Amino acid sequence: ILHHSPDRPPPSPSAPETHKEASSTGAHELALAISRHQLLPYYQPQIDLKSGTITGVEVLARWPHAEKGFIPPDHFIPLAEKHRLIHDLTLEIAGQAFAQAAHWRRSGVHLTVAVNLSPRLLDLPDFVSEVDALLQQYQLPAAQVIWEVTESSLAADLGIALANLARLRLKGFGLSIDDYGTGFSSMQQLSRIPFTELKIDRSFVHRAHQREHLRVILQSALDMAHKMSLVTVAEGIETLEDWKLLREFGCNLAQGYFIAKPMPSETFTGWVKTQNT
Ligand code: C2E
Ligand code: CA
Ligand code: CA
Ligand code: CA
Repeated sequence: ILHHSPDRPPPSPSAPETHKEASSTGAHELALAISRHQLLPYYQPQIDLKSGTITGVEVLARWPHAEKGFIPPDHFIPLAEKHRLIHDLTLEIAGQAFAQAAHWRRSGVHLTVAVNLSPRLLDLPDFVSEVDALLQQYQLPAAQVIWEVTESSLAADLGIALANLARLRLKGFGLSIDDYGTGFSSMQQLSRIPFTELKIDRSFVHRAHQREHLRVILQSALDMAHKMSLVTVAEGIETLEDWKLLREFGCNLAQGYFIAKPMPSETFTGWVKTQNT
């Protein structure tokens, strides 16, 4: 039984036994769900702000639970990280997404797939060869896959992560700095990693409307990123105003509810068709 549901009070610190039991049951259920292929990739489109065409998708994991409905990733991703399930979870979601991307590709639709990468996986010596094997399996070019790594997760220990990020880049994968603007890393630090993309966090996008100085920072971050040949993406585009501001600032791609929510593959395929007519 998971302890996150709103109708259930969070475990109190005075009841460590209950807490422990609850979280390990959650982990066990999650392990089962992963092995039974019950976790699903949802796809959220990314749109070129100049041309309005769709260029790719971000892959977001969903866990439909028989009794509890959808368990949010903010709950099960940390659970997976804590109980060493994140490796299996990522390969499962990436495998499904690569298969889907290969399928789109065969039907003439070339979309990049951006997959979220937990920093813990960058410590595993075999991870790069495992994802490379997945590519071979689905006959997908590495350039069509982008790994998203959050800015804040990198700050801690760059050493080992750096080597594996460089290996991913050498294989031809794209590398994206996710949630940019929420951490404290400088562009100079980030420039040590062979990133191909910078993804502006949605809180930055929203606050930029209210504060002139944040617009100045946003504009210079975008300019600097472009000078470093990075593709720029703004996430959390919720309104026409967000869209206009980011387009005016020269941001390359937009993602957010204003365009579409993350969707299962069948819904996404239908959505793409409505965009072309
Ligand atoms: P993220 O990587 O920053 O993903 C963006 C989140 O913002 C997603 O939440 C997405 O549904 C949501 N979002 C998209 N557009 C909008 C918008 O216009 N407004 C608002 N308010 N939200 C928007 P989601 O799917 O709940 O995922 C939450 C986080 O869980 C992700 O944040 C990511 O860090 C993590 N996550 C999801 N799937 C995976 C996965 O397969 N692997 C790993 N390691 N992490 C994942
Ligand atoms: Ca992301
Ligand atoms: Ca993000
Ligand atoms: Ca995030």
